[in-house]
Amino acid sequence: MSETTLFQNAPDEGEGAARAGVDFVRARIMDDNASGRFDGRVHTRFPPEPNGYLHLGHAKSICLNFGVAREFGGLCNLRFDDTNPTKEDTEYVDAIREDVRWLGGDWQDREFYASDYFERLYGYAEELIRLGKAYVDDLSADEIREYRGTLTRPGRESPCRNRSVEENLDLFRRMRAGEFADGEHVLRAKIDMASPNLVMRDPTLYRIRHAHHHRTGDAWCIYPMYDFTHCLSDSIEGITHSLCTLEFVNNRELYDWVLDTLGLYHPQQLEFARLSLTHTVLSKRKLIQLVQEGHVRGWDDPRMPTLCGLRRRGVPPEALHDFCRRIGLARADSTVEYSLLEFCIREYLNAHTARVMAVLDPVKVVIENYPEGQEECFDMPYHPEDASYGTRRVPFSRELWIERDDFRQEPPKKYHRLAPGAEVRLRYAYFITCREAVYDAAGRLTELRCVYDPQSRGGQSPDGRKVKGTIHWVSAAHALPATVRLYEHLFAAENPNAMPEGQTFLDALNPDSLRETAAMLEPALADLPVGRTVQFERLGYFCKDADSTAQGAVFNRTVGLRDSWAKMEKNA
Ligand code: ATP
Ligand code: MG
Repeated sequence: MSETTLFQNAPDEGEGAARAGVDFVRARIMDDNASGRFDGRVHTRFPPEPNGYLHLGHAKSICLNFGVAREFGGLCNLRFDDTNPTKEDTEYVDAIREDVRWLGGDWQDREFYASDYFERLYGYAEELIRLGKAYVDDLSADEIREYRGTLTRPGRESPCRNRSVEENLDLFRRMRAGEFADGEHVLRAKIDMASPNLVMRDPTLYRIRHAHHHRTGDAWCIYPMYDFTHCLSDSIEGITHSLCTLEFVNNRELYDWVLDTLGLYHPQQLEFARLSLTHTVLSKRKLIQLVQEGHVRGWDDPRMPTLCGLRRRGVPPEALHDFCRRIGLARADSTVEYSLLEFCIREYLNAHTARVMAVLDPVKVVIENYPEGQEECFDMPYHPEDASYGTRRVPFSRELWIERDDFRQEPPKKYHRLAPGAEVRLRYAYFITCREAVYDAAGRLTELRCVYDPQSRGGQSPDGRKVKGTIHWVSAAHALPATVRLYEHLFAAENPNAMPEGQTFLDALNPDSLRETAAMLEPALADLPVGRTVQFERLGYFCKDADSTAQGAVFNRTVGLRDSWAKMEKNA
């Protein structure tokens, strides 16, 4: 059990919480609607801090917040929680907008910024001072930590705790006016230094930061803390259900205290477990490090768990919706298998992509009895089960590329592909029989000399004889050379967040997470737009990358056809 669940307050189980097939958030909303608590309104928000790119964990929160709003006929706001000027940037704001939209989140005209509320928040802070519920403290950050006490030891009151309202107001206004240096003062709530909940031991509400803010510029040199900002932003926007992750369980008491003390409209905070995935890190700090230290090629590197990385890899948003539905919503932390994500991606792409032929590790086949200079075309369906995908014409000629792996000099039992003397079906084309394998001086296979059966046109047996193996191919004269990037887990370790003593998550990086191959594609792929994903028959799903040029396309493997990684691990 993680620390957050260990110390969490007793969960308030609504009576609907056990309702079959409904998670606790939706059950709670149903209860609130039934009791008329928010007049039947449902209004959620997705509140990212613009200090990094969104990742799979955020997808869970987006699907939840926008999903709940849609299901209950409510609204969901996009709110940038931008109270930390030194780490935030408009680059992130733009990227977040794009990612939320890509996932189908529609906030209409309700794009808000905590920084829009700075003036109101400041007013609420003065109000707390006037109520005798907040004071300016001179203790340093270290001293405040020291005074706070521990879970077993109560805190000590600051010597500044009993300043008069007038003195507090004066100091707070001078903090705002820029009279003090960073760290010289903070504004703290006056609650209870002996509270069993450490969050309630006079938490800091405002700190001094002489820093430029990406939206408010230099208008402010004091900035409100998350706990103060978040509940007030929710209240200002009329949020009904404020859904956040479990680490904020202990903050709920403060959330409630601020709103109750100020006598403001009060949303309900509900906490759910954050998403953790095997072989993945989902902390922005770690993701930033991967980018800044060059362990990946950027935020949108297809190995990254960022939404832009997944998009570039060819993962459709529908697969992420399906994934979020399947993992459900719980109140205890757990780790989801990465293979579940791959399963969802495969499920969606299987039903929604065209199939084409590409050879990733090409070896030449020469069909000795096929006339030189002759060529013909085969009409092939883009999808075997869905005629609406249409067909394309695939050229065939005397020299072809096939996968190196589709030939064995000494085939094991039950090997149905090419081998000396063996016959296979070239997908939709002809039966061929291998006569001879040609090797170079280094012993590497360079060419397969074959013959074809002209009577087997279309891959149909002419006389009822059985050919078990069917392999894919590309006509050498017509092939498009391309670069294909094959990805494996970015982290070899199952849990890069919990490495042995003396190691960091960087030690878990998989040195083979990216492999590039020089592939040959069928010519129909020439016009495929960047960003489109197709199935390369027998190989997996591949997305055309923006790095493609006139000289050659670049494809990212989105996911293989089968769960090869999980199988490998089981056999290891
Ligand atoms: P990180 O720890 O990676 O910095 P964060 O929680 O600080 O993430 P925010 O930008 O503050 O990132 O998150 C915006 C919203 O997304 C919050 O409501 C947060 O609860 C949610 N969220 C972030 N990470 C996850 C996750 N792994 N699983 C579920 N929800 C998440
Ligand atoms: Mg955060």
